[in-house]
Amino acid sequence: MKKPYLRAKSAFSIDEYPDSASFTAGYLTTSNGGWRSLRPRPDASKCVMCGQCYLHCPDGTIYLDDATGSYAVDLDFCKGCGICARICKPRAIAMIPESAV
Ligand code: SF4
Ligand code: SF4
Repeated sequence: MKKPYLRAKSAFSIDEYPDSASFTAGYLTTSNGGWRSLRPRPDASKCVMCGQCYLHCPDGTIYLDDATGSYAVDLDFCKGCGICARICKPRAIAMIPESAV
C-alpha cells in the first residue's frame, strides 16, 4: 500500500514502517512506568463502565480485570499522563502523587 505521507528518502524502506502506531498488547517485555510522578487510581464505585479511559489511554495500560469485573491500570507501563482521569466524566479516576503511595 502506498504511504504518501512518508518521504521517499529514508533510512528505512517504506515497507518497514508500521501501518499504525498500535501494536498487539504484550509486545513490551520490560516495565517502563518507573518515572511516573502521578498514578491513576480508579474507583469502581463511581465507574459507569463506559470504557472511555480504556479507549483513550495512549499506552494501552487500562484493562478490564476479569477477577473484579472493573477497569484496572497496569502500573508497570502507565506513564501517569492523566488522560484517563480527564476523560472520565463521573470522575472515577483520581491521580495520586507517587510520593503519597
Ligand atoms: S472512563 Fe471512568 S467511568 Fe468510564 S470506564 Fe473509565 S473509570 Fe469507568
Ligand atoms: S495516566 Fe495515562 S498512561 Fe496511565 S492509565 Fe491513565 S491514560 Fe494511561
